[in-house]
Amino acid sequence: MAKGERAKFDFERCKGCRLCIVHCPKDALVVSDKPNSRGYFPVVMGDETKCTGCGICALVCPDCGITFVPAGPKPKEEAKR
Ligand code: SF4
Ligand code: SF4
Repeated sequence: MAKGERAKFDFERCKGCRLCIVHCPKDALVVSDKPNSRGYFPVVMGDETKCTGCGICALVCPDCGITFVPAGPKPKEEAKR
């Protein structure tokens, strides 16, 4: 996590506990309306422009499902979700 980065959520690893949503100070996250292959409704980035890359979501995630990528256009596979 660093300036100019944003959080990226692992769709398959997430179990939808929502801890990251509760702790995000920017209200940037939402729950996907599609389940992953394990039947959980994962958290995804709702508004990338709100994410400051602060890293709080990654600190609280019990499943290490959050990494950081340069802020900017979403990769294709993320944009589909
Ligand atoms: S890095 Fe910070 S602002 Fe971005 S989603 Fe995580 S908690 Fe929210
Ligand atoms: S804290 Fe981790 S496992 Fe829980 S909803 Fe967020 S990304 Fe998913």
